[in-house]
Amino acid sequence: MPRRYSHSALKVAQRCLRQWSYKYVERLDPAERPKYLKRGSDLHELLAGLYEGYAEVFNDATDENVELLRRYAAKWAEEDDDWEVLHVEEEMEMDIGPYKLVFICDLIVRINGEVWIVDHKTVANIPDESDPYNMSDFQHLLYLAGVQQKYPEVRGFIFNYIRTKAPTQPTLVKAGSRIADLRRIDTDYDSLRSFATREGMLNDPAVQDKLTILKLTPDKFFQRHYIMANEKAMLSAYDDTRAALDVLAEAELMATYPRHVLGGYAGSAACGNCSYQSICFADMTGLNREMVLHDYTEREKR
Ligand code: SF4
Repeated sequence: MPRRYSHSALKVAQRCLRQWSYKYVERLDPAERPKYLKRGSDLHELLAGLYEGYAEVFNDATDENVELLRRYAAKWAEEDDDWEVLHVEEEMEMDIGPYKLVFICDLIVRINGEVWIVDHKTVANIPDESDPYNMSDFQHLLYLAGVQQKYPEVRGFIFNYIRTKAPTQPTLVKAGSRIADLRRIDTDYDSLRSFATREGMLNDPAVQDKLTILKLTPDKFFQRHYIMANEKAMLSAYDDTRAALDVLAEAELMATYPRHVLGGYAGSAACGNCSYQSICFADMTGLNREMVLHDYTEREKR
């Protein structure tokens, strides 16, 4: 029976094998979940509901998220008509040498006979489309290689950007003679147009200029970036993952999980950002680990 790993577990192992052992051998979870992660996952759940076609998921959602999804659905209604939904947050499996790797894509769709992976990205600001692809997209290349095992017609992935900030609602200056801060207002076309219509200012040249700019420049709230698959890059992602799985399997076999102590410049991989830092430090220095275990909950064995 091939050893089965989830891709999220492999990512942790690549960051630090010691961290992997806390999370997957001892099955410890940090007690508190950062709020920004919760907001992102709430929106992911709503998007899954939208593409699976069940409305109940919206019942427990905040008004803010429901409004965001309403605007999202209106923005993409026409484009989504061409999307044949194949999988929504479904567990998929790929063969990598002697291993099975389990991964979950937000959404997989068929568009005009070609298969695309959709990644919902909830962000504070949408990045520039001129630089859509960098090394942090390694995961997507691997997912493409995995999806290709089931759908050889896979074409690429779509970054489905959703800005979590709502458009600023226009207001009038105190005297009521014009719209406040019109040049810099961080809003969208529909919000400005409906406000200007309501206030009888639609023919104001300054409002017309701003509406033209909003229409012609990329949407600041919702964008989709289509990235074509590159066979060589997919193969590299596959080969590197195979090598990383060998390292993880060997660590498991030996029950040896060395620390990867990474400095402050290692971004999310740095020890300073690791939620297992307190228990790791206690274990390393021989402090009483029972004291820090209060910061964690133990997941049940499946
Ligand atoms: S604190 Fe550093 S060495 Fe310890 S588990 Fe976390 S990443 Fe690994």
